[in-house]
Amino acid sequence: MTLGFIWMDYWWFAIPGLILGFYAQIKLSSTYKKYLQVGTSSGLTGAQAAREILDQAGLTDTPVEEIGGHLTDHYDPTKRALFLSSENFHGNSIAAVGVSAHESGHALQHKAAYAPLHWRMAMVPITQFASVAWQGIVIAGFIFGMFYKLVGVAIAIFTIITVFQLNTLPVEFDASRRAKQQLVRLGLVRGDESVGVSKVLNAAAMTYVAAMVSAVLQLLQFLMIAREERD
Ligand SMILES: [Zn+2]
Repeated sequence: MTLGFIWMDYWWFAIPGLILGFYAQIKLSSTYKKYLQVGTSSGLTGAQAAREILDQAGLTDTPVEEIGGHLTDHYDPTKRALFLSSENFHGNSIAAVGVSAHESGHALQHKAAYAPLHWRMAMVPITQFASVAWQGIVIAGFIFGMFYKLVGVAIAIFTIITVFQLNTLPVEFDASRRAKQQLVRLGLVRGDESVGVSKVLNAAAMTYVAAMVSAVLQLLQFLMIAREERD
């Protein structure tokens, strides 16, 4: 084996994660696009639905703001604020209301002191550091052929990323569960509309599952390389 290219060993470990990630993205974009065309009987926009869910939970001081971009919707726990993309902020489709309710679900988690959300918040800085460190290692590996010395660091980095992605799953599934519960309870979606909401939110959840699988496989790849080095 060529030391400089040791990282190439077990490269095929990354393939299933890449395929799953690609499939999840296509599935999300087609499902989201489909339900952007389907209106709800309540006629509420995403912003109005989010406002209703937040107010009903006593979160009247949590602002709902509009941001640019496509599917950039998120809840920012540091600002205790909801950010919705223009499509979902102004749209009154099943997709817009579903995504907005999901982001509201994160605010409900915050209010309920839902533990996995707090773990996720605590892990953000170290995960960001790990991601930057990984880019540095890739550059060092390419330029100086140092990959073989850095396998231990790569394992540490992907352990951090894997734990973060694993912890993201309960946070995302729970936010969707709370979203669907509130949408039905408050009559914001009726009858079959909740099926569409579920399809959109499940497709979004798939992208998080794919990210987790990718991280686990990359971690396994470096563990295999390390084992080979030892032998
Ligand atoms: Zn989410």
